[in-house]
Amino acid sequence: MTSPRMPFGKRRLNGRCESQTPAEWRPFSQRLRGRGMGTSMVALACAAILAIATPALPGHAHEVRADLRQVAAEPAPLLSPASSMLPVVYRVNTDDPVVFLTVDDGIVHSREARDWVRRKKIPVTSFVTLNVADGHLRYFAKISKHGSVQNHTVSHPAFDTYYGDLRRQICPVQDRLADRLGTRPWMLRPPYGAGARLARVHAAASSCGIRHIVMWDAVVDRGRLTTWNGQRLSRGSIILLHFGPNLKSELRLAVKAARAQGLKVAALEDYLRATKRT
Ligand SMILES: [Zn+2]
Repeated sequence: MTSPRMPFGKRRLNGRCESQTPAEWRPFSQRLRGRGMGTSMVALACAAILAIATPALPGHAHEVRADLRQVAAEPAPLLSPASSMLPVVYRVNTDDPVVFLTVDDGIVHSREARDWVRRKKIPVTSFVTLNVADGHLRYFAKISKHGSVQNHTVSHPAFDTYYGDLRRQICPVQDRLADRLGTRPWMLRPPYGAGARLARVHAAASSCGIRHIVMWDAVVDRGRLTTWNGQRLSRGSIILLHFGPNLKSELRLAVKAARAQGLKVAALEDYLRATKRT
């Protein structure tokens, strides 16, 4: 475990809860209100965030809650129609009975999860935040032996409210992973899923060599798999997990849920390469 250097502090967390309807999340809050549970659900989510944020894993706890809201806020499993923008992928458009496992951040390095994944030869795509993952990059290369290690920024800012140099959040990860692992990332997952459709994010990412903005349509958290619409997994579902202490059991849960639906885990890299822009 490393000491997080990311801006995951409580002030940031409070700010996110108190201004809980940035543009990209409004559809979700509106949908909740339509069901008559907007206020209570948001309050519950915020209370849960504050309650579970611990010094050991503040970022993990924060992001899981934010991610769960983001899943519902961004239901469209489509590629971006704007040709000037990078594809934004929530779910891979495929008829194959497959799902994809993606694991974010990199604060905790579970040997059990790594060994299990390698033994089962399960493709895992790691989205690493350099500030916490650097120094442990071999771990991510190993757990993603049948997948790849991709870009989750230098210090994990929320792009929708970040007005620093976006390239300095994206390009150094590209260079560092290329230097240490020999492969340059081409997928970016914006922290919290924030700003995934912003033109300035796409421009910066593209200039750093990113080809796909990768989101998700399902989350495994605390022993439970949740999809954006409350339905079953779909063909092409992208499942989000985090590098936490329970990663092995969470990976097993995801694999088991997929198999129960006749779906198998495939390598995201294989499918996105086939659909990348020409
Ligand atoms: Zn993250």
